[in-house]
Amino acid sequence: MPRYDFRCRSCGATFELRRAMAQANDPAVCPQGHPDTVKLLSTVAVTGAAAAGAAPQQAPSASGGGGCCGGGCCG
Ligand SMILES: [Zn+2]
Repeated sequence: MPRYDFRCRSCGATFELRRAMAQANDPAVCPQGHPDTVKLLSTVAVTGAAAAGAAPQQAPSASGGGGCCGGGCCG
């Protein structure tokens, strides 16, 4: 069953609901009981790392990668 993300406009909480696709656009109620929620864009195609629940942070990329030109060997 697909999973949908919702955001509460009253308290700002985000939450997930599993529901049939036919009910995808039905109104959802915040876990805190607020009815004013909006459905977020589908995140079905997220990467495995993001799906694991980690915050979508970018890993610091390695700088000065030590390629051929990194040391000026081919300049
Ligand atoms: Zn709420």
